[in-house]
Amino acid sequence: MPELPEVETIRAQLAERIPGRTLTAVEVFDPKLVSPEEPEDVVARLVGRRIASVGRRGKYLLIGLDGDETLAVHLRMTGRLHWTPGAPTEEERFLRARFHLDDGSTMTFGDMRRFGRAWIVSGAPDEVEDYWRARVGVEPLSPRFTARVLEGLLDGRRGPIKAVLLNQALVAGLGNMYVDEALYQAGVHPLRAAGSLDPVELRRLHRAIRDRLAAAVEAGGASIDSYRDSLGEKGTMQDLLRVHLHAGEPCPRCRTTIVKTRVAQRGTYFCPRCQPAPPPW
Ligand SMILES: [Zn+2]
Repeated sequence: MPELPEVETIRAQLAERIPGRTLTAVEVFDPKLVSPEEPEDVVARLVGRRIASVGRRGKYLLIGLDGDETLAVHLRMTGRLHWTPGAPTEEERFLRARFHLDDGSTMTFGDMRRFGRAWIVSGAPDEVEDYWRARVGVEPLSPRFTARVLEGLLDGRRGPIKAVLLNQALVAGLGNMYVDEALYQAGVHPLRAAGSLDPVELRRLHRAIRDRLAAAVEAGGASIDSYRDSLGEKGTMQDLLRVHLHAGEPCPRCRTTIVKTRVAQRGTYFCPRCQPAPPPW
């Protein structure tokens, strides 16, 4: 499932290729992609528009259009946005939409599970910022995300730290994989009460979140299941994961066997020695 690093990889690639281009045709093959809007209405609003920018908030990809509108895209589980310089040469098996640009290039939206969504957000850039602020929390790679900000977000919360970090309204863009990796690096058990971390653990966790996300952006994201970047390539972060999907293997730090459990309904991986369990009371 694409998380912040995967969406950021796609954003950076598209930002080099599509701003300044005009959408000459848009085909929506799966009405669910743009529901509750009607596909023909969405198409009518997009065709003829010039792409001004490519941005990101959390896991949302934001294609800025002239006339103060934004096409927001959420890839969810298995969504892929594939850019090709001409018409795509390979058939997309799970085709949901196709965007044609005035230089002959094409963006193809494929999505096996069909949970992905696309919609238009109206408003000037500052109004759009308010729209996103109401939906997603602080960007963990931005200078605004400090250890003190993290402390404030966790303060008083009794839920497991893993569940709290998955809450997009608090920290934007973290998902199952990078939360596991960050908690491991910080030496924090996924079931610790979020508000129970001491100042040293908080600083370690803050650093670990930024470090793991930055490493993943550097690696072009992780291709575990279906993820490919917008050029159809795999990332390499899957080779750098230390605990996620490594149950039964030795911890890279202490050789204790990595364990898989469930937290917040998600498969959760950790080292029982490096990440000591919270006390039972
Ligand atoms: Zn260990």
